[in-house]
Amino acid sequence: MNSDGSAPGCIFCAIISGEIPSDRVYADDQVVAFRDIDPQAPSHVLVAPRRHVASIDELKDDQELLGRVMAAAVTVAQTENLAETGYRLATNHGRDGAQSVAHLHIHVLGGRALSGRLG
Ligand code: AMP
Repeated sequence: MNSDGSAPGCIFCAIISGEIPSDRVYADDQVVAFRDIDPQAPSHVLVAPRRHVASIDELKDDQELLGRVMAAAVTVAQTENLAETGYRLATNHGRDGAQSVAHLHIHVLGGRALSGRLG
């Protein structure tokens, strides 16, 4: 881990620092949100803590940051005008959870009717 809380080689840490460009839609002192590069719905935003946390599985003891990330995800959904029609918040952990980037992120999905199947 670097002294600024980022992890060497982590693509989302590089996005959060601005080293890799992204389409950023929200930022505060602890959380950043940017559009997914391969959107699965008309609105597909990823909400991540600035500090490197590998997944939700590491965050249960930091309820303040957990709350900040989830509140930011709801703010993003509302800013994307998804509250009335509906949206999904999802996060993946580990191999069987199909996590492909090991930096915690909440998917905000909406803008179309999503499947009720989750796996
Ligand atoms: P997960 O499979 O839950 O770990 O989700 C990782 C997400 O990151 C996928 O939906 C990818 O499309 C997305 N992603 C990967 N690289 C980038 C990038 N450079 N910018 C934006 N989204 C990305």
